Amino acid sequence: MSLERTPVLVVGGGIGGMACALALARQGQPVALLERSAHLGEIGAGLQLGPNAFAALDALGVGDQVRCAAVFTERLVMMDAVDCREVASVPVGEAFRARFGNPYAVSHRADLHGALHAAAAAHPLVRLHTGVRIAAVEVGAHGVSATAADGRRFHGAALVGCDGVKSVVREKLLGDAPRVSGHVVYRAVVPVADMPDDLRMNAPVVWAGPDCHLVHYPLRGGEQYNLVVTFHSREREEWGVTDGSKEEVLSYFQGVHPRPRQLLDRPTSWRRWSTADRDPVERWSEGRATLLGDAAHPMMQYLAQGACMALEDAVTLAAAVQARDFDFPAAFRLYQSARIARAARVVLSVREMGRLYHAKGVERLVRNSLWPDRSPTRFHDALEWLYAWRPDNCLADAAVGRGGEIPSPTTATILND
Ligand SMILES: Cc1cc2nc3c(=O)[nH]c(=O)nc-3n(C[C@H](O)[C@H](O)[C@H](O)COP(=O)(O)OP(=O)(O)OC[C@H]3O[C@@H](n4cnc5c(N)ncnc54)[C@H](O)[C@@H]3O)c2cc1C
Repeated sequence: MSLERTPVLVVGGGIGGMACALALARQGQPVALLERSAHLGEIGAGLQLGPNAFAALDALGVGDQVRCAAVFTERLVMMDAVDCREVASVPVGEAFRARFGNPYAVSHRADLHGALHAAAAAHPLVRLHTGVRIAAVEVGAHGVSATAADGRRFHGAALVGCDGVKSVVREKLLGDAPRVSGHVVYRAVVPVADMPDDLRMNAPVVWAGPDCHLVHYPLRGGEQYNLVVTFHSREREEWGVTDGSKEEVLSYFQGVHPRPRQLLDRPTSWRRWSTADRDPVERWSEGRATLLGDAAHPMMQYLAQGACMALEDAVTLAAAVQARDFDFPAAFRLYQSARIARAARVVLSVREMGRLYHAKGVERLVRNSLWPDRSPTRFHDALEWLYAWRPDNCLADAAVGRGGEIPSPTTATILND
C-alpha cells in the first residue's frame, strides 16, 4: 500500500474530530479516528450556529440534517441584567438569511454531533476507535504514530490533533500552556414547561451583568431551553469540568434583576466548567501533524464560534489536502496559512466581547450607549467578516498571504465596522 493510502490519524472524536474525519474521507482519504471515551457523543447542552457553520456543514454533506433539528432564531438580543433595558437587538430573520445564504440557528449539541457521527460512521473510509486515550505521538519524515495509554500503537500517513483544550498533540507540537480565564460557566437544559413565560423568546438572549452574564435560547422546536450562566470566579481556577452547586451560582448573581435571576431556580442539576483559551500562535503544524478545533485555537464562548470554527477548519483542511494532492506537510502548511489569522481574530474578538458582556461602572454605561438605533444593515456589515465565510474560497486567505499574521486586539474587535 502506498503511503498516501495509509490512514490519517484523527485524535479526538468531538465536533472537530468528527468533522475532520468526514471531510478527509469525502476527499478519498482513509481515516482512523481515535477517541478516548468509550462512547462517542456530546454533552447535554445547546450550541449557537452562525451561517458560516451551515456553509461548512453543507460542504460536509450534513447541513440539511442539522437544519431539520435546529431552531432558526429571529434576533440576537443583549439585555442589561441590572436594569432590564435592551442593549442591542440584531435581526437575524429573512434579510440576514438572504444576505449570508444561511440562518443563525441554535441546535442541541447531540443533534449536531450525531449528524456528523452518523455520516462518518457510514463512510467506508472512516474507522472509529473508542476507548483509545492517546498518550504520545511521533511525527516522522515518512509517517506518524500515536501510542495509547494502554500501549496500543496506531500508524498513519499524517495526524490531526482534534483533542480539545488540553491537547496531547499540541503539547507535542508546540508545548505551550492554556490560559485559564477564571471565568466559570454553568450549563443546563430545561423543558419548556420550566421556562418562565416572559423569557420564552426565539432568540439567544444575553443578560449582561457586572462580572457575570446569563444566556437562554430554545432548542428542539422550542420543547427545551438551554441555560448558561457565567461569572468571574473568586477561586483560583483550574481548567476542567466538575459538579456544581446552586448556592455557588446564586452567590454570584446577587446584583442581578429578578427577571433574569429567576432562571437560576429552574435547573435541577448543574455542571460547572472552568474555562480557558490560549494566546494565538503563528504555527499549528509540524511536518505531517497539525491541529484543529479547540486544540488549535481554544476560545471562550462569548461569540459562540468555537464549534463553528472547528467546522470551518475541517472543510479547509480537506480542501488543502486536495489542493496539495495528498502531500500532507505541504497541505498542512497551506491549511494553517489559510486559518491562523482568521481563528486568531475570533479568539481576540471573543476576549473583547467578554469584556463588554461583563462590564460594570463606566464601562457598562459605555457598552449600553454603543448600539441603540443601529440599523440592521450596519449590524450585518459589522458581522460580514465572521459570517460570510464560504467553503469555495476557504483557501483564499492563504493565497493573498494574510494567513500568518496575527491581528492586534484593537483591529480584531468585532465592533470596528
Ligand atoms: C459554555 C460554552 C458554550 C459554547 N457555546 C458555543 C456555541 O454556542 N457555538 C459554538 O460554535 N461553540 C461554542 N462553544 C465552543 C465549542 O463547544 C467548542 O469549540 C467545540 O466543542 C470544540 O470541539 P473540538 O472537537 O475541537 O474539541 P472537544 O469538544 O473538546 O473534543 C475533543 C475530543 O477529543 C477527545 N480527547 C481528548 N484528549 C484525548 C486523547 N488524549 N486521546 C483521544 N481522545 C482525546 C475528547 O474526549 C473529546 O471527544 C462553547 C463552549 C463553551 C465552554
